[in-house]
Amino acid sequence: MAKIIDAVDPGNAGGSVLIPEMPTTPNRQVLRKCPKCEKAFASREECRQHIFDAHPAKRPQLVVDNQMVTERDHVICAPFLPDDWIIQQAEQIIIDQQPMTDSAACQTLSKLTSGFHHVQLKSHDFVVDYHIEFCIPAEEQLVVVEKTFSMLLVNQPLVSERIGHFIDVAKHEHGASHYIEGISDFLYGVLSKDQRGYTGLVFQEHTAKFHAAKQALRFIDRPLANLIKALVNFNDNAFAAALALRPPGQIAAACRILDGLRGGESRRPPEDLLTAGNQLPVDIATAEIIRFCHLPLAEQLDQAFTLEHLAGKRTTPPHDRVKIQALLMNTFWEAGQFTEAVRWAKPLRHNPLFEELANKIIEEAGND
Ligand SMILES: [Zn+2]
Repeated sequence: MAKIIDAVDPGNAGGSVLIPEMPTTPNRQVLRKCPKCEKAFASREECRQHIFDAHPAKRPQLVVDNQMVTERDHVICAPFLPDDWIIQQAEQIIIDQQPMTDSAACQTLSKLTSGFHHVQLKSHDFVVDYHIEFCIPAEEQLVVVEKTFSMLLVNQPLVSERIGHFIDVAKHEHGASHYIEGISDFLYGVLSKDQRGYTGLVFQEHTAKFHAAKQALRFIDRPLANLIKALVNFNDNAFAAALALRPPGQIAAACRILDGLRGGESRRPPEDLLTAGNQLPVDIATAEIIRFCHLPLAEQLDQAFTLEHLAGKRTTPPHDRVKIQALLMNTFWEAGQFTEAVRWAKPLRHNPLFEELANKIIEEAGND
């Protein structure tokens, strides 16, 4: 099956990036941070004890995974253990009309997976009401969404109708709605950015779609979700944030190169990057930028005009134009073509990301 898919040219007008293998268990965060003072702890127990000791509360409060639960609009999207829940200063605890003890309440909260639930915490002076939405997909539901995604959207021409079909088929996995929403918003973002695929969306809407995707996927720690979040960060020129999501080689290398230029140093891509496998569609500019990052210097010089053309297009978003300017500045600088390097460095003189390298190049070229 995989071999047949590999042989098919995606045929997209844009490009695509490799989706890494899917592990079966989500990676849990090891380091615990206090939600009030940011102090880090090696274990959940130490952190829990610290919160009780260092931050005694007057008002009852609910904490999960070291985050304060808000009374309204709090959504729990990932499973937590009873120990991840902390109830402070409550003399009486009522969950969905049921009074219970502290430990029973933590057990109950760790078992809820869907719907809205009411948690009331009472102390002598306060009554605090939480209305919490639980939307925790089961592992199998996430797998079904990924299988549906592979079947309908991987290595296929990307058009609006296919995304709609994916939503229709996958939506039966109720608990996985955030995952489905994140994937489809990202793909609609790709299409609106490229103005293709018959979405009816205008170009400007791609940013909102990308950010909605990142937001919907924020609690989903799976390779496909992390890849999408990394691509949204890459689009926004947040290279370090993209790298923190451990994207596969192609994107990681492009992020490292651009992040290196940001720090004023130039860097070459590693050789032999794996590119065969299931591919996630991306927009034309992202595909071109990533491709360019992996070319040897001589080929970068040969193909500089492709990026130059892209940078000059009115529909190229400012973030992408900045990436292109930085890459071309660096390529010409490495090749010893200082006049061209300075030409690309000039627009970056006051750019917060690349000003350091741009000014260095302008200065050094002026001294020659
Ligand atoms: Zn603290």
